[in-house]
Amino acid sequence: MLLRHTPKEISERSALTINPAKTCQPIGAMYAALGIHGCLPHSHGSQGCCAYHRSTLTRHYKEPISAATSSFTEGASVFGGQANMMQAISNIFAVYEPEIIAVHTTCLSETIGEDLKQIRKKAITEGKFPKGKYMISASTPSYVGSHVTGFANMVTAMTELAESTGKKNGKVNIIPGWVEPADMEEIKRLAALVGVKSILFPDTSGVLNGPLSGEYKMFPDGGTTIAELKATGDAVGTLALGEWCSADAARELDKKHKVPCKVLDMPFGLKATDRFIDALRTVAGVTVPDEIGLERGQLVDLISDMHQYLYHKKVALVGDPDQLISMTEFLVSMDMYPVHIVTGTPGKKFERRIKELTAGLPYQVNVKAKGDMFMLHQWIKNEPVDLLIGNTYCKYIARDEDIPFVRWGFPILDRQGHQYFPTVGYKGALRLLEKILTVLLDRKDRDSPEQTFELVL
Ligand code: SF4
Repeated sequence: MLLRHTPKEISERSALTINPAKTCQPIGAMYAALGIHGCLPHSHGSQGCCAYHRSTLTRHYKEPISAATSSFTEGASVFGGQANMMQAISNIFAVYEPEIIAVHTTCLSETIGEDLKQIRKKAITEGKFPKGKYMISASTPSYVGSHVTGFANMVTAMTELAESTGKKNGKVNIIPGWVEPADMEEIKRLAALVGVKSILFPDTSGVLNGPLSGEYKMFPDGGTTIAELKATGDAVGTLALGEWCSADAARELDKKHKVPCKVLDMPFGLKATDRFIDALRTVAGVTVPDEIGLERGQLVDLISDMHQYLYHKKVALVGDPDQLISMTEFLVSMDMYPVHIVTGTPGKKFERRIKELTAGLPYQVNVKAKGDMFMLHQWIKNEPVDLLIGNTYCKYIARDEDIPFVRWGFPILDRQGHQYFPTVGYKGALRLLEKILTVLLDRKDRDSPEQTFELVL
């Protein structure tokens, strides 16, 4: 009973968060930056922030996360961090030789009003950038938004590199949003299967799910190259997966380079994947290949085979808005009942979208943007659920309330597989469904009396 002090009675709170359902903006900015090939993320703030961001990503991906910091001390906090940043730029290119540095701010540097664009200009003027090297920057104050906002801000910053030559290159930009490296690989596989030439950005596949080869590479082979990022300005269109993670960057490319964009939900589950495949098919002007039809059919088959175990099961969800929207739709499409849904990321439109998706259900869903896990726990105490889906921090609630638990989202600190096995697309949905069924059937086995303990389920 680690959370035994959580009361059942719910009282109104406006200025207090307990057990947040989010983490800080720079973590998202750092994750996005790692999706550029040869990129060294740089944290313009104190060392402590950078250490925290790196360790959180390392714990989730089980890979060393390299990042530099402006190492603010008391002096920089009072007089500004420009001198530290200028020194950092020289050191980084002299010692680590990245292709690009992706700089984000922290609460401290934002509060004292650091201007990264001005610092970059000064560094260029003073010749601190070796030829052909780049810097992009994003403002990521953590007292607003969440890790999702930081991710979106850094992805938008990547569009600064886009160039238009006036001649379209026939490629489609796909902005995958904050998904796992394996998901990025799967999105590329699906696009290629349909016959779409794509530029995926950011792309952490091959960066954060690489092999142990015995040879250390400061910059792994994966990631979107600078040349690809430049070419995004000549693409025939952009598919942005997720309103929160990807839409801003897509709209920026549309505004600056006239690359038309379509914002879709992240392709988790049956219907969202259908829409993604349909968008790819439309862009390519082809029919859906049989191979994809087969994968879809397998998913539908498993849903119908095991529907009796899913039917009207109540689910509590915590995570990020783009993921939760698709997951809610997936659960509803399988006749499950998502009853409590919380994200730590702000945005009332999240609540509206969830209410739309659950409108036909015979109950009123509890949904909260900018919510916390304490609230989720209280809701569960008042209306118990059959299944909990969320990140590792949910394990305390799952243990206290004895709920079957599927780990999904960020961060996952105590299990493996998320880097290697996708949950997007039809194959990914099969995996999600397998995970859901496993915990539900394990629970059935555990709780069945001897006379109904079945061999075959
Ligand atoms: S001070 Fe701000 S940026 Fe630094 S770790 Fe804390 S929340 Fe994140």
